[in-house]
Amino acid sequence: MSGKVETHEFQAESRQLLQLVVHSIYSNKDVFLRELISNASDALDKLRLESLRDGDLDADTSDPHIALETDPEARTLTVRDNGIGMSREEVKGLIGTIAKSGTAEFVRRLKEANANKDAAASADLIGSFGVGFYSSFMVADKVTLVTRRAGERKGTRWESTGEGTYELEALDEAPQGTSVTLHLKPTDTEDHLYDYTDVNRLRQIVRRHSDFIPWPVRTTVESPAPATSANDAEDGDTTATERTVETLNSMKALWARPQSEITEEEYKEFYKHVSHDWSDPLETIHTRAEGTFEYQAVLFIPSHAPLDLYQQGGRRGVHLYVRRVFIMDDCTSLLPNYLRFVKGVVDAQDLSLNVSREALQQDRQIQLMHRRLVKKILSTVKELRTKDNERYRTFWREFGPAMKEGLLSDTDNRETLLDLASFPSTHDPEQQTSLRDYVSRMKDGQEHVYYLTGESRARLENSPHIEAFRAKGYEVLLLTDPVDEVWVEQVREFDGTPLRSIAKGQVDLDGDADDKDRAEEKQRADDFEPLLARLRDALSDDVKDVRLSSRLTTSPACVVGDAHDITPNLEKMYRAMGQ
Ligand code: ADP
Ligand code: MG
Repeated sequence: MSGKVETHEFQAESRQLLQLVVHSIYSNKDVFLRELISNASDALDKLRLESLRDGDLDADTSDPHIALETDPEARTLTVRDNGIGMSREEVKGLIGTIAKSGTAEFVRRLKEANANKDAAASADLIGSFGVGFYSSFMVADKVTLVTRRAGERKGTRWESTGEGTYELEALDEAPQGTSVTLHLKPTDTEDHLYDYTDVNRLRQIVRRHSDFIPWPVRTTVESPAPATSANDAEDGDTTATERTVETLNSMKALWARPQSEITEEEYKEFYKHVSHDWSDPLETIHTRAEGTFEYQAVLFIPSHAPLDLYQQGGRRGVHLYVRRVFIMDDCTSLLPNYLRFVKGVVDAQDLSLNVSREALQQDRQIQLMHRRLVKKILSTVKELRTKDNERYRTFWREFGPAMKEGLLSDTDNRETLLDLASFPSTHDPEQQTSLRDYVSRMKDGQEHVYYLTGESRARLENSPHIEAFRAKGYEVLLLTDPVDEVWVEQVREFDGTPLRSIAKGQVDLDGDADDKDRAEEKQRADDFEPLLARLRDALSDDVKDVRLSSRLTTSPACVVGDAHDITPNLEKMYRAMGQ
């Protein structure tokens, strides 16, 4: 028995995204299976957790597993799980809508790439966004999802061809969990590799992409039954087949295995499962601690920043396990906010399975793991800088602005963070510099690390403030991230050398001037005083003071801030934040 069929429209962004996916030329179509298995695995994790927390939950937890069912005649593949399932509203919200932040931006860029017929760019974009469930439409022209949430009586059927609408129907009966049935696109002869009803193909894909999934991924294999007697074998038209259930994955928790036995490929696949990212990680950190607070962790630094890194509400944090049992995703207590781009799994030995998000923040063990993991991540980046500078530069390009937030919030590691940082400077138009290298290039008599903050490098380079420094051969850091305005106010020095804005107050460039120079200076000041007085008068509403300056060489005048004034860029940032 079932209810009436309703037709709904996809939310606008989802519709656009689907269109792009349906017509995508994403080359590795196999990944749709990884996505569906990954979702099924998450659903089984959630069921285990919810039944642990809620003893009254009316759910079947007797044999959690994922099943792949094929029908070569009908050309369908079904991925079935008996996990948490979805309510009708969840189906609408999760499958009919893409809740992921950054979607609009992604769709805009993908359209642009497609308009330019830039196949590589569009594949890259899809890869770096990860389209999850919607990747089904790369291989199927119709997808049917049947689901029932654990503890609920009614089920829901969702069906779509990916065109613009989907159907919803209430079902009086449905097994607990979710099944996703793909009506596979016809394969042409060249596409014989994409026969996803072939068990051998499925076995191969699961081993490759989903081996570590902690739940059994099963399929039924049909093979000719061994003949029991000569008569049976000769028995003409009924070929006897034997059906056996095979588990396709090894189910071993990757982080618990010895590092030496794990291949690069396995780490990469694991990363894709935990991060929902389709591209390879930049760096993998596998670490463990023994003794009083035992834990194992596999952490990843992605190779690109997510589109929502600087927005509220994106996916944050790592997955927390306790003795192999999944406890929560997006666990933000284990790492500081500025490292929110780090993905992975932390498995703790001695935490309670019932620990709540709130309790986590107070937990002494969590705090200790937090401290150690941060140290480990920072030392990894430091190592990257010396051992593989190119990858370090990718890291800094993608995550530098986030790392600089750490200069403000993580005072314990400030020195290390300063050491890790890179900044554009007048020394080299292409390469950024470390503070250490800056200091090593400082001129005799130069007592400060000079910097200028502003909107863009081009603007800063043309700033009149810089002239005198350029003339003297002093290097100036050109800081253009909004966060730069803030950290430079807090971090006053690097390794004993004070940082100094060249746009603020009086910058004494003449520490080495001799007495004769000083006398000349004095004379000049006296000569100009009447002019300065008139200017002061005329500009009294707009500026605090008018001074003679030694910092200009070709420009006649410039506006400077007081040593403690906020800079124009910061003023803009505060205004943007509504302050
Ligand atoms: P993501 O996994 O990155 O969240 P997906 O597009 O793969 O994105 O899935 C969207 C959401 O739909 C999931 O977050 C989950 O809430 C829900 N979902 C998908 N598949 C299942 C499933 N098999 N069981 C329960 N919920 C599911
Ligand atoms: Mg998913």
